[in-house]
Amino acid sequence: MTVIPDDPHEAALWVKKRGLEVGADLVGIAPMTRWEGAPKQMDPRYIMPEAKSCIGLAFRVLRGSLRGIEEGTFFSNYSGMGYGGITYIFMPIAVNTLAREIEDNGYEAFPMGHQSDWRAIDNEGNLRKGFSKPVAPGKPAPDIMVHLRIAGYLCGLGEIGWSKMLITPEFGPAVRIGLIFTEMELEPDPIYEGPKLCNRCMACVRACPGHSISATKSIKVKVCGHDLEWGEIDTEGCDLAFRGAEEGPGHYMKNSDNYRPNPISPFYQAPPKVYNAGKAVCGAGGCTRACIASLEARGVLTHKMRKPFRRYKPWKVDWSHYEEEIRDLPAGTVGINTKLDTD
Ligand code: SF4
Ligand code: SF4
Repeated sequence: MTVIPDDPHEAALWVKKRGLEVGADLVGIAPMTRWEGAPKQMDPRYIMPEAKSCIGLAFRVLRGSLRGIEEGTFFSNYSGMGYGGITYIFMPIAVNTLAREIEDNGYEAFPMGHQSDWRAIDNEGNLRKGFSKPVAPGKPAPDIMVHLRIAGYLCGLGEIGWSKMLITPEFGPAVRIGLIFTEMELEPDPIYEGPKLCNRCMACVRACPGHSISATKSIKVKVCGHDLEWGEIDTEGCDLAFRGAEEGPGHYMKNSDNYRPNPISPFYQAPPKVYNAGKAVCGAGGCTRACIASLEARGVLTHKMRKPFRRYKPWKVDWSHYEEEIRDLPAGTVGINTKLDTD
């Protein structure tokens, strides 16, 4: 068993080194006091009241995972290896490994990944009707939703961009966040105050296929005494476009009689889900890919690659001959495919 030093400074150094060894690309630490003032339903101190520290671990989405979508030739890799693989395999294994080693030293630790399907609040922060209720007066309704990107921000991993993505100085928005809350006291990192990363270039707004990031309306919040602002997000629009429907009910929506082929998806029918990640057909074209291109063009990312991410103008699918193309295809093979579409 590895013995973690008792001294918070030494312990933090150990945790960060070990976090990288178990597979994270970035590790930062926040004291739990940074959640002071958080909405009750989003305050992790209700999950582990004795927690002293939050360890934020960022796992990068490999830039190559997005290459196939950039080329328009291989879409599943982002859903599989870049999004679902990190979210549901690599990251849980890493945070669980590190949390286990912390518990071996006698400090309770809980690893947390992307498990917000059980959260009690909706995207607007309202309690979901008929979902759950507090187990005792004064407690929030289960499950609390810990905002992973805000937690990453509080752990000093980067800033919140206009797209509401956590933008890290190393990999921009191409990271997935895992957390460990623990009773162990660790020396915290400062909140990121480095060179500004998001310059409000609005590339994310222009490239978002769901037109889901407002250019003009914003949300302003105070987090741990810091003013944050991001563009208002149309989460429903994002949900549709993420799966390949450009606007309104689209190709992949069950019971939809409003199918429209659209320029962001080359698929005649819904491709199957990969893990629980849905079908990330849009490939985060605005909030991640356009943002990476912008950050790289400005030279602000510290993790340098030898060739630029964006190598030519993004493609658009030409569906102008759609009716002819589908004319001779057997019934049921085009549009909604209920065998494959499990949403
Ligand atoms: S694309 Fe530009 S405006 Fe949008 S988050 Fe990235 S840097 Fe900020
Ligand atoms: S995931 Fe796609 S649709 Fe959603 S905000 Fe990002 S670019 Fe827009």
